[in-house]
Amino acid sequence: MPKTPEDVIRAEILALKGYNVPDATGMVKLDAMENPYPLPPELRARLARLVEEVSFNRYPDFSATGLKAALRRELDVPDGMDLMLGNGSDELIQMVITATAGSGGVVLSVEPAFVMFRLIGTFVGARYVGVDLRNDFSLDIEQTLAALERERPAVVFIAYPNNPTGNLFDAKLIERVIEAAPGLVVVDEAYHAFAGDSFMARLPRHPNLLVMRTLSKLGLAGIRLGVLAGGPAWLKEIGKVRLPYNINTLTQIIAGEMLQHLDVLTGQAGAIKLERGRLLQELQRIRGVTAYPSDANFILFRTNEAERVFDGLKQRGVLIRSLHGSHRLLAGCLRVTVGTPDENAAFLTALKQTLTA
Ligand code: PMP
Repeated sequence: MPKTPEDVIRAEILALKGYNVPDATGMVKLDAMENPYPLPPELRARLARLVEEVSFNRYPDFSATGLKAALRRELDVPDGMDLMLGNGSDELIQMVITATAGSGGVVLSVEPAFVMFRLIGTFVGARYVGVDLRNDFSLDIEQTLAALERERPAVVFIAYPNNPTGNLFDAKLIERVIEAAPGLVVVDEAYHAFAGDSFMARLPRHPNLLVMRTLSKLGLAGIRLGVLAGGPAWLKEIGKVRLPYNINTLTQIIAGEMLQHLDVLTGQAGAIKLERGRLLQELQRIRGVTAYPSDANFILFRTNEAERVFDGLKQRGVLIRSLHGSHRLLAGCLRVTVGTPDENAAFLTALKQTLTA
């Protein structure tokens, strides 16, 4: 008898839907929190010259020493803390969960949160526990502390700002979670470039804290580079589950060079922040739309006809993300990435047309 996937694949994997990335060919792409601005031509030419010199026959620098030194400087990593790199922060989440909860342990986060905390927990065979946020998307500290006590998670993930709600939680409450947690706490700062606060400088005060960053939202989503900062003893152990040469040569070279021109990317992040304010105001003016303030490069908004709005936008060539149906707090919710002024205008026009159609 030939074996089928149903015979062989683990039940919890068969039950998963998997991470879904829709085709965006020809669309105004506002679904994935990318930086919409290209690099200036002279910088692109510089990167091309560096790529010409690459020894493609050789494995990458195993420890990415040069890149780590540049990151340490540019990300203001406190003295005494180490870095670990991942093929995107997704891979870092996978390494942390594999090394901590593993199969049978507990991974805890808030809900709604970034879906990969739950998905990777499931891949690895861990048990995922989600603690609901309050209705205003703030951290429910009583429920969170109770869950820490009850579930004893090996690792807690908190995105700061949170995806998909866009807000920064109260930092004092996060500190209470770090202090009460029986294991590690990872503060995921994927949207740091658009937010006004960070836990990076707080690392030395909390021995069970790790801070995660990514270059994806800053304008380098294509090279996949995530960064985990924390105490050397933690990273030494977690680093044992890292696959050899996980940061390819092109990523190391391009990220290293871009860190010397970080002002270009932070300038673009500044433009995105300005547009975010404008887009929020415009959304808040539309009848039938509730839009939530954001510290990230996207805005969450609610209508009472999310599916029709999502489809109407898509028909008009604008791709955003629908979160309706994914969590009770997200009923009617959609998430739009802040694009260029033209893209945002196209989105707003398509949205108004859809709502009045
Ligand atoms: N953390 C959060 C909160 C995110 O929203 C995302 C991307 N959507 C990631 C991590 C993953 O980022 P990357 O793998 O591109 O570094």
